[in-house]
Amino acid sequence: MGKVILRRRMVEEQLIARGIRDERVLDAMSRIPREEFVPKNLVSSAYEDCPLPIGEGQTISQPYIVALMVEKLELKGDEKVLEIGAGSGYQAAILASLCRKVYTVERISSLVKFAAENLTRFDNIIIKEADGYSGLREFSPYQGIVVACAISAPPRMLIEQLDEGGRLVIPLGNRFSQELTVIKKKKGRLKTEKVCGCVFVPLVTGENSDRS
Ligand code: SAH
Repeated sequence: MGKVILRRRMVEEQLIARGIRDERVLDAMSRIPREEFVPKNLVSSAYEDCPLPIGEGQTISQPYIVALMVEKLELKGDEKVLEIGAGSGYQAAILASLCRKVYTVERISSLVKFAAENLTRFDNIIIKEADGYSGLREFSPYQGIVVACAISAPPRMLIEQLDEGGRLVIPLGNRFSQELTVIKKKKGRLKTEKVCGCVFVPLVTGENSDRS
């Protein structure tokens, strides 16, 4: 079956049917070719309803989870967004279609290279090889920060680099049980909303000895 049809079907059956409503998110996910972000031997599985391996023990997230995380940022178009965990670059590509500028950080060199190759067509994405635990202070503050790997508690530096009115979307928990969480910064205060249970690869950092 053609990729355009598979993509349309993914949007209808995996996203709309489960409650994704943001038209801009749905539009971006019906345009970005997900098959360009998976390893060659998995191209025929690109639109399946699951995460897929991308090497180094890492994964490209399930399409629904990407849509949900991005929707929770409530992007309007003029934001600067930081992503922690570039992986394949797929989520960065979706983000780049919805905001002004995307900075994405990845700690594994081969994945930095993989993401960069997959993202050559995008001129509003900067990929950095670094430990995202400390965010990316250089270009802060960000109106949105999205973390694609799980950690027990939100890193202080990510909260600091969040702009007033900004949103941090992050899976919080241990290796077995995590909750997708939205933290909003309003007038210097933080408001936390739990979205749903989820399973992400762990955030690995030299600065975080907590491996719970
Ligand atoms: N957004 C990606 C999902 C990648 S999975 C996609 O669309 O494909 C999460 C990624 O987070 C992995 O590539 C992993 O290497 C990376 N990661 C884990 N800990 C990290 C850290 N401290 N800093 C930066 N990246 C990290």
